[in-house]
Amino acid sequence: MQVRNNISLKPYNTFGIDVKAKYFAELHSDDEIVKFYSSLGPEHLPVLILGTGSNILFTKDYPGAVACIRSKGMVKLMEDEKYIYLKVAAGEIWDDVVKYAVEHGWGGIENLSLIPGTAGAAPIQNIGAYGVEIKDVLWSVEVADILARNYRAFRPSDCNFGYRSSIFKTKGMSRMVITGICLKLRKDPVLRLDYGDIRKELDIAGIKDPSLSAVRDIIIKIRSSKLPDPSVVGNAGSFFMNPFVAADEYARLIKEFPHMPSFKSGDAVKIPAAWLIERCGFKGKRVGDAGVHENQPLVLVNHGSATGKQILDLAEKIIASVKEKFGITLETEVNVF
Ligand code: FAD
Ligand code: NAP
Repeated sequence: MQVRNNISLKPYNTFGIDVKAKYFAELHSDDEIVKFYSSLGPEHLPVLILGTGSNILFTKDYPGAVACIRSKGMVKLMEDEKYIYLKVAAGEIWDDVVKYAVEHGWGGIENLSLIPGTAGAAPIQNIGAYGVEIKDVLWSVEVADILARNYRAFRPSDCNFGYRSSIFKTKGMSRMVITGICLKLRKDPVLRLDYGDIRKELDIAGIKDPSLSAVRDIIIKIRSSKLPDPSVVGNAGSFFMNPFVAADEYARLIKEFPHMPSFKSGDAVKIPAAWLIERCGFKGKRVGDAGVHENQPLVLVNHGSATGKQILDLAEKIIASVKEKFGITLETEVNVF
């Protein structure tokens, strides 16, 4: 483990924003995480833990130490009649974990195929896609509590999971470094196909009784056709969360905008933010090198040398415009520093 000075973070965030960290390290094991924290002086603070930087927007140089978690390892801890329990180190690439599970015939995370990032970051915003969230398959989250100087295991009921949120995303929780997760995967998979375009694409491919790997392949196909690849154009996935409105608010909106798509969710109604943004005229819009993706307006992109501030300015314009037209306040999903 080596702590280096004044390092560009451009290769370490998928927006490709060129800011500097005063100090920078890559930590390849839990031992290195402990060594790193015990070597810190006041000049290294604050510390920011990163995975692959696929859910972050840097708007300025980072004044303390940035540490990327790179620990590896997947181990089948135990199994019972129905489930296998897979322990995964925080630095594993999430999609490698999905691939591994699908190859072994273990079900539960196939709908989360091709989500960028590390396994350790996955519980932070309770990653979700195609009707599945990581909370549905989590057995535990292993954490190093830097202040208390101990290791703890959080059960899902301790994690306060919500839509793209968890206890780890709340203020004051940066003391918790996730060192690993344990997934509870089904030996006899139950597929979730009634979401987005999955069923339609399976029909087009003529697949009636899909295997786990057929579902993974279809999701990879849909995602690759819609979403910008961060290695080609900088982005951090959906910049905004889909808003949920109360029933009376929905009644007002649907009267004024009868074509507005919506999904009922308990007592509330979810409105796709992409539709709201498109209706405000932002789809494919570009201000300098900061832009809105032409296929998926939820995704803001860096066409080349945009600064984080320029991308944030564009996001703020979108928020103001959606608020003015629909009376809805969009919230950012991406972590802004
Ligand atoms: P980073 O961006 O490095 O970090 C994210 C946050 O987690 C930061 O606050 C960081 O401090 C914290 N953090 C990271 N690792 C740790 C750790 N070990 N311990 C403590 N804190 C930590 N998200 C979805 O939910 N669903 C999607 O379908 C989806 N699709 C995407 C598509 C694209 C093209 C892109 C670019 C992003 C997408 N995302 C999606 C967002 C992103 O991939 C996820 O949020 C992912 O979990 C981030 O992982 P990361 O390792 O890159 O985290
Ligand atoms: P999509 O399938 O075109 O669907 C558009 C929107 O409708 C999504 O926001 C989705 O909500 C919602 N939706 C579709 N079917 C639904 C159903 N049966 N019940 C409830 N809501 C439904 O969306 P997409 O942009 O291609 O993305 C596909 C999936 O990948 C989505 O789940 C999306 O969240 C996820 N994704 C996430 C990110 C990210 O960075 N967070 C980036 C890309 C894709 P939800 O978004 O709530 O699922």
